[in-house]
Amino acid sequence: MSSVNSSDLRDDDRHHATDALAASAIADETGGVGLGSLLYRVKYADGTVHKLFESGTNNLAALLRIWVVAVTEKAQARKWVPTPRTAWDMDAAYGLYRRVAEASLAHWMDGRCNTCNGTGIQVTQHACPSCKGTKRAQIVGGRLESEKIADMVGELEGLYQAHGGRAAAMLRN
Ligand SMILES: [Zn+2]
Repeated sequence: MSSVNSSDLRDDDRHHATDALAASAIADETGGVGLGSLLYRVKYADGTVHKLFESGTNNLAALLRIWVVAVTEKAQARKWVPTPRTAWDMDAAYGLYRRVAEASLAHWMDGRCNTCNGTGIQVTQHACPSCKGTKRAQIVGGRLESEKIADMVGELEGLYQAHGGRAAAMLRN
């Protein structure tokens, strides 16, 4: 039997390869519509979250799997962390990518400030102390992690807007 470490690493490689395969299978499943279209199905054009996606449907699970793969690709291309050398490093890196993907998707889907319920003001009519009147929930976590989460929320919004623009252009033609 080989060492625990090397077998862990092999399992990890297989696990991550499986994720990538899952993403391409999902792309086929959804007719190759891609992330932008899935995002559009999750959120109505007015920014409210689609009811179907609130109860943890397969579509949301599929979207999260695809987004984790996309965030992992971006993280590796942008070198968020040094190239992992050990199984432990790799677990830590993939753990970060997954947390950033989950938090950014959750925040993008519903990032309303909890304290003021997204109104931006308190009952006293003063600016809400939690969000300082921005109406958006604060992203929690370490500095690097919350920076990356905010980045990825921006990426999701960009994909969503780009898809909305394409869909609108198609309707006009
Ligand atoms: Zn607030």
